Amino acid sequence: MNNKYFTIQQASEGIWAAISVPGSGSLGNAAIIDLGDLTVVVDTTNLPHSGAFLRQTAEQLTNKPVKYVVNTHFHGDHVNGNQAFMKSEFISTVWTRDLLSDMGEVNIDLMQQNTQKLINSLIQVRSQQRGPHMLTEIDYDLSVQKTLYDAIPSLRRVIPTITFDDKLVIKGTKRTIEVLSYGGGHSLSDAVVYVPEERTLITGDLITNKTIPVMPHGNPYAWIRILRRIQKDLKVDTVIPGHGDVSTPDRIPDVIRFLEETISYVSKAATSGKSESYWLDQGVLKDYEDWHLPQYFRWNFRWLFNSMLIQNNR
Ligand SMILES: [Zn+2]
Repeated sequence: MNNKYFTIQQASEGIWAAISVPGSGSLGNAAIIDLGDLTVVVDTTNLPHSGAFLRQTAEQLTNKPVKYVVNTHFHGDHVNGNQAFMKSEFISTVWTRDLLSDMGEVNIDLMQQNTQKLINSLIQVRSQQRGPHMLTEIDYDLSVQKTLYDAIPSLRRVIPTITFDDKLVIKGTKRTIEVLSYGGGHSLSDAVVYVPEERTLITGDLITNKTIPVMPHGNPYAWIRILRRIQKDLKVDTVIPGHGDVSTPDRIPDVIRFLEETISYVSKAATSGKSESYWLDQGVLKDYEDWHLPQYFRWNFRWLFNSMLIQNNR
């Protein structure tokens, strides 16, 4: 059962987290839930290869084939392993299904070009960095992107066939899960999986553990509202985040604070009259420099800064 892509952590009774090993290429976390008479997997990691290990691990831990796979959102590090689950049925929100289906078949050349562009820009950013934490994290990312580049020719798109708008319940003999969506914050449409009996929440990237949340193309204002609603509506003791280790609900205020502070920092920057490159040179917002994926702070900044400049010029 050992593999280089993820470590298995038991999160609660009948629920295991597959926590991505940094730099291994799997990138996103996944979860395995034993409902008694059936097994559910949440998200499938960044590679067909790591997805295959995830399926084997789920079958060994629960002694059953995987009946359902939930895709929390459309990002590659949560769906690229889908093809390893061809005997399972896939569940997502209507919008996530549409996003995946609109992407069409994998365009190998285009996807490899885009991955190469990302690798080049990481190499460029790396050359300007001196901090050991930032250098280590960029090296992990370079290794992830190179592994993905090599896997792209074998990648197949798998589109969910079971869709829901805001809630879908799956009852098992041992426990029940609620697949919930409060709209989109991190992506255009985000789902979480809640296991009430175990007070456990599998969050996709709405919640990350000491990892810079990726903001571009999402909606940070809606994201904060969604997290407040989760705090209010769901009784949670254990969180399996999209990135980072299994944790407690204390990670929810961490992400809210990060989003609020980023919004106020960038809106100050957008009215300062100083250039984007001036602000990018300032590095990661203080208090978050030791989080994982610090290299994504500049992409968050650039995206939000430019969308605020457009708004200010209206
Ligand atoms: Zn994501």
